[in-house]
Amino acid sequence: MSLLVQKFGGTSVADSNKILAAARRAIQAHHRGEQVLVVVSARGHTTDELIALAREITDRPPAREMDMLLATGEQVSVALMAMAIESLGVPAISFTGAQIGLVTDSFHTKARIKNISNDRMTQALAEGKIVIVAGFQGMDENYNITTLGRGGSDTTAVALAAVLGASACEIYTDVDGVYTTDPRIVPEAGKIDRINYDEMLELASLGAGVMHSRSIEFAKKYGVPIHVRSSFSDAPGTWIVGEQDARRLGVAVTGAALAKDEARITILGVPDRPGVVHLLFQTIARANIVVDMIVQNVATDGATEVSFTVARGDLAETLRAAAVAANQIGARGVTHDAEVAKVSVIGLGMRAHTGVATAMFEAIAAVGINIQMITTSEIKITVLVDRAAAVAALRAVHKAFLLDEVNAWPQLAFFPARSTTRAMKLVPLADPDANGPREQGMEDLVIAGVELDETQGRITLYDVPDRPGYAARVFQAIADAGVFVDMIVQNVSQDGQCVLSFTVPREAVNRAAEAVTPIAGGQISIEPAMAKLSVIGVGMRTHTGVATRMFGALADRSININLINTSEIRINVGTDVAKGKEGLDCLRKVFALNHES
Ligand code: ADP
Ligand code: ASP
Ligand code: MG
Repeated sequence: MSLLVQKFGGTSVADSNKILAAARRAIQAHHRGEQVLVVVSARGHTTDELIALAREITDRPPAREMDMLLATGEQVSVALMAMAIESLGVPAISFTGAQIGLVTDSFHTKARIKNISNDRMTQALAEGKIVIVAGFQGMDENYNITTLGRGGSDTTAVALAAVLGASACEIYTDVDGVYTTDPRIVPEAGKIDRINYDEMLELASLGAGVMHSRSIEFAKKYGVPIHVRSSFSDAPGTWIVGEQDARRLGVAVTGAALAKDEARITILGVPDRPGVVHLLFQTIARANIVVDMIVQNVATDGATEVSFTVARGDLAETLRAAAVAANQIGARGVTHDAEVAKVSVIGLGMRAHTGVATAMFEAIAAVGINIQMITTSEIKITVLVDRAAAVAALRAVHKAFLLDEVNAWPQLAFFPARSTTRAMKLVPLADPDANGPREQGMEDLVIAGVELDETQGRITLYDVPDRPGYAARVFQAIADAGVFVDMIVQNVSQDGQCVLSFTVPREAVNRAAEAVTPIAGGQISIEPAMAKLSVIGVGMRTHTGVATRMFGALADRSININLINTSEIRINVGTDVAKGKEGLDCLRKVFALNHES
């Protein structure tokens, strides 16, 4: 008998009628002969209301008590759902996270799942009951109630589908699928019928709130197909699946995302020597803060600037950690900007298309918006803009990539399952920055491999004017010269000027440099060959320890990092070409990879 997991979000259980409607869906599947496990969120705005209630008492509620409070929201929902299903004549039983032995680490309010014991659920299912489990919550090894972070019910649902070997995980919500961007912000957004795990991982972690990004990590690691669909209709939604099922030829960009509440931190006058960047990010990782858009300048006069972004809610804590780190490494100071937002475009197709960066920068320039920082990875480009301009930037980009015309996309081409994708061999790895030594957990970081690419060179433009349109012109010139750009990083301006670096194939370095010379204005430096070292896995950015481990390993060998870019599936750094092989070797060792990757 196959098992189906159905998850109902907050709006889908907001009142008694909606709970009864959700109960009927579960019963339908039960009558089709499936075993059914239901995961529910807190009703409507319950979680927000509970947070507000705590804030009425104190500005800094203890995290443990916050979890105790927030977990009540889901407990109400499971009881009501079980009553609803019983009232419709089908046996049902509800469980809290703790009751099904969903054990997490002890990072209250952002706990990670370590293991789940399925005995109790399996037994109830075998007895013919519909099992209802509270999403978003678990307990740590000392029986403290924990929660998984906002939106975490998706992660509970996919994790349960993974451990119980469900045929699929249905996510019932208030939209009828995953759209090219948030349809509440851009009404012209279109529904995507099928999307790949990696694309969804990036979309979710870069701001698409429709799925909790950690749920996609589970789905990818355990191969769980996800169907995101509307609670209020029977229309098919969006399937989130492996690459072989979601490859779409001819489409470079699949979606765009906005992360509105971001903050940028810059460490000024960072001494340019191996190990310094490592120390900085290690201090921040220890506070369990997820860092994105790490940009480090090419050094001038032995010092450099390092900028990165964090969620605005983590700003105060990050500034505390950054101040400590800056002091330790002898940096000149720390600045920040709390009024910024990230706009990203995502697409597997980007790996094969030129001109994606140009098109994005042009669209933003055309509406007069300044790009403060740029970072890229193989399947996404992210820019940092003023928060007030973010929605306009998102709309412009959405339009430029014709994301409002999904119906015109080519039909999905199907590929035989194993021939096009390399199976991912995953090596679990305990997080060294977690609270002391511990056992392997389900959500631990997994690494698929490390790689060395010696085929690229780097071009750096100094004195780049900090005004709209510059990046667009530079990459238009490169595209006109027929050159494929891989990594792009642009730091935030100091005194009205920025530094812009990018990598191109070695044989095209001179051609690219010539193409940009007329528009560069200032100084250009060329590194004809460089080494790009990558660590590849799943959920790389959300696991705060992986970048620090990589930087640390390179620092121990005195290998200087001069370019960084991160995504959920890989972290890439640029180093001196002469150090490439040594770097690869040390990364293999530190990530305990004995096999060739
Ligand atoms: P639930 O309570 O069911 O978990 P959420 O509010 O967490 O629902 O997620 C659904 C919401 O996600 C939608 O109402 C929509 O506004 C938002 N959203 C953001 N990005 C996207 C996207 N790319 N596609 C669809 N919805 C999105
Ligand atoms: N109730 C939690 C929240 O609002 C978890 C969830 O809905 O996924 O964040
Ligand atoms: Mg949600």
